[in-house]
Amino acid sequence: MECGKNIVILGTGGTIAGLAEHAGTGVGYRPAQLGVAELLQAVPDLQQLAGAALQAEQLAQLDSKDMDHATWLLLARRCAQLLARDDVAAIVITHGTDTLEETAWFLQCVLAPAKPVVLTCAMRPATAISADGPGNLRDAVACATDAAAQGRGVLVVAAGRVFSARQVCKVHPYRVDAFDGGEAGPLGWVEEGRVRWAAASMAAVQVQSAPQPPATALPEAESWPQVEVLLSHAGSSAAAALAQVQALCAAGVRGLVVAGTGNGTTHKALDAALDHAQAHGLAVRCTTRCAQGRIVQAQGADDSRVSALPAVKARISLMLELMGWPRTDR
Ligand code: ASP
Repeated sequence: MECGKNIVILGTGGTIAGLAEHAGTGVGYRPAQLGVAELLQAVPDLQQLAGAALQAEQLAQLDSKDMDHATWLLLARRCAQLLARDDVAAIVITHGTDTLEETAWFLQCVLAPAKPVVLTCAMRPATAISADGPGNLRDAVACATDAAAQGRGVLVVAAGRVFSARQVCKVHPYRVDAFDGGEAGPLGWVEEGRVRWAAASMAAVQVQSAPQPPATALPEAESWPQVEVLLSHAGSSAAAALAQVQALCAAGVRGLVVAGTGNGTTHKALDAALDHAQAHGLAVRCTTRCAQGRIVQAQGADDSRVSALPAVKARISLMLELMGWPRTDR
């Protein structure tokens, strides 16, 4: 890391900034209580490890289960401003675990950053005996300062592993290593303040296939098109599904992601609801609710509605597409 460079740590809340009544509890705490500057103080050698000036900035203070488009817009605009500055080498974002993969994917789609943007988090509040936040923050800064992190886009560091925004997924509600990279595995591991990159990790990096508008082109959040997710499951009810889609249309929803069974199939009870969505001009994407893999189609089949992403990320890609971004869900 060159002298005179800054690493900016943006705080957004989450369990990493959470406080509990008792040090022995890992549940029942209040997330988003400590400021990001206090999080930095819990890692005494952070400055030394970074080899750059650390600047803490509180961008939001929320439980990420409540993440909203307005906060995403704030984050995207601030990141775009910082990344454009020559004196900023990298950004680290502290975030709640619940929607971390969605924020990471959103930022990847709108920033596609050449400089490292690294999200990190914690599964235990800052007051816990086994608090994992300080270690994760230390690992995230180590990753952000690693020369080989350049060009890998938005990354997530948790429990000693590095994931790309595209692959990362929260897979456990309690375990400290709550994230997984699916079939691709992690891009690397952070060990003693150094990243060991997986041999084939560069191949797993998301490359934007088409030029995209800058994050500064995002309109105010109130005008973002709303996209919702419909889940196909055993016992689906035709009447309930139709009522749900009718209500979505009436509420001005513009797009629908269908999380289908297996290889992207949907319960026959959803047929009328999906016909209604199409007749009312909603953009529809289909994906699989399976935790790994993607829909596989016969050669030559029309795949225009098929998304290769999990439903919550397909939702983001479709929302951006409706705002003029190129497709990012292939
Ligand atoms: N509900 C918390 C959040 O997402 C959970 C966490 O951070 O682990 O903000």
